[in-house]
Amino acid sequence: MAISSIDSVETVALEAPLTEPFGYAQEWVDTRTALLVRVESSDGTVGWGECWGPTAGTRGTVEEILRPVVVGEDPTDVERLYDRMYDVCRAAYQSVVPLPAISGVEIALWDLSGKLLGQPVSSLLGGRHRNETRTYATGHYFKPVEDLEEQYRRIVEEATRNASLGALKLKVGLQLLGYGPDEDLELVRRVRDAVGEDVDLMVDANYAYDRPTARSVGEHLAEYDVRWFEEPVRPEDLEGYADLRRTLSVPIAGGECHTPAEFDRLLDADALDVAQPDLCNVGGLTPARRLADRVRPYRTVAVVPHVWGTPIAIGASLQYIATLVDDAPLEFDRSPNPLREELTADRFVEGDGSVPIPADPGLGVELDPDAVEAYRVD
Ligand code: MG
Repeated sequence: MAISSIDSVETVALEAPLTEPFGYAQEWVDTRTALLVRVESSDGTVGWGECWGPTAGTRGTVEEILRPVVVGEDPTDVERLYDRMYDVCRAAYQSVVPLPAISGVEIALWDLSGKLLGQPVSSLLGGRHRNETRTYATGHYFKPVEDLEEQYRRIVEEATRNASLGALKLKVGLQLLGYGPDEDLELVRRVRDAVGEDVDLMVDANYAYDRPTARSVGEHLAEYDVRWFEEPVRPEDLEGYADLRRTLSVPIAGGECHTPAEFDRLLDADALDVAQPDLCNVGGLTPARRLADRVRPYRTVAVVPHVWGTPIAIGASLQYIATLVDDAPLEFDRSPNPLREELTADRFVEGDGSVPIPADPGLGVELDPDAVEAYRVD
């Protein structure tokens, strides 16, 4: 008999305007938002999840399509409920399954299950291979300045500050500001010069390039000892990923935009060196774990989750990392975001770049209700 049943599913939308916008290849960002999912069981236990992307649309899907699927069910039946949510959404939306909505509910169910069973989510997912990991700094976004030298100066300064973590990821795609791949490569060169050869350096294009440009940029990245070239081409161009992986020596990374079915096709085509499922976008921990299970026997593909969001996204990612056979660093966003900094007392990362993985029940993340209320927009 079930120890309790799912009583309610609610969404909580949060918003934090930024004092200075930042840019990447595709757009400028001036407000950080988050859509959290709060699931409560019949005994009053609460689990939290997070959905990738805008509130619009996702909120309605969670409340009108997914809530009826899970209310009244056993909250510890997470994998069965994930499959059911996926099938219901496919029937409702056909080929465009709204995975961010499923992710938020699925992660909240794991958090709730862990709390009900007194276990960290990683233990429920098959066991913990580690109790801590290392991190790499994400950030180094484009600044709202006209002058290219000033742009370089500010990004290099930020990268130099983050180099103490031992690994960092740069953004290229200065097309947003009217420049091109030459200026992108100059940015990589300057950062490599500034941080020295001992710091791991990754490069993320956020699909700024077409295939020929990506190939040309990728050939040069090898000169700067780049650990991976992330999202070189548009997510839809799965053949482009395969082509670049065949022709370039720099490892090819991607996945933050990809669905479980697209991951299958990328893996079938030997198109990835580094698979980067985002737990809040791929459908949650269930499909991410299935992906890791698929690549585990061969170990030709590293799994390093993409992480972007609040402490709920970070906490879910840490639980996932604990379950991976091969260690993966936590992607640690260093760009300004009050929603990441203020919703919990926990700052996650120690000064040397190591990150303890919580062993408390559920995700091991304790949200501060006052902070949630302060940024709530509904
Ligand atoms: Mg990325």
